[in-house]
Amino acid sequence: MEDIFCQVAAGKVQSDVIYKDDEVTAFRDVRPVAKTHILIIPNRHISGISEAKEPDAPLLGHMLLVAKKLAEQEGVASSGYRLVINSGPDAGQAVPHLHLHLIGGREMGWPPG
Ligand code: AMP
Repeated sequence: MEDIFCQVAAGKVQSDVIYKDDEVTAFRDVRPVAKTHILIIPNRHISGISEAKEPDAPLLGHMLLVAKKLAEQEGVASSGYRLVINSGPDAGQAVPHLHLHLIGGREMGWPPG
């Protein structure tokens, strides 16, 4: 199944890509909710975290480490940032392709809305 983020990973739609390797692509969210709002996605299609399997563990770890590096690059590592994966309707997952939000550059409340 090809969704919008498969197309981003394949370079088929215009997007603000800031990092790419064999496994993942990171790009700026089109509707940022903070100064820094980046999405990190696997290049291959996984519908969401609920569909991830044990063999995906290295990929999931890699996504987290890429997020950490990008937070440093963006200058939010010391001020703080949030990593979010929305899964399913109650969490408001809108795009059926696993994506990790990296959000930073402002103070955030807890619990999330
Ligand atoms: P979620 O609610 O976790 O599924 O988040 C999906 C996110 O993808 C939202 O923050 C959207 O603004 C963002 N988004 C959707 N399409 C694009 C796109 N083509 N390029 C960048 N961000 C996108």
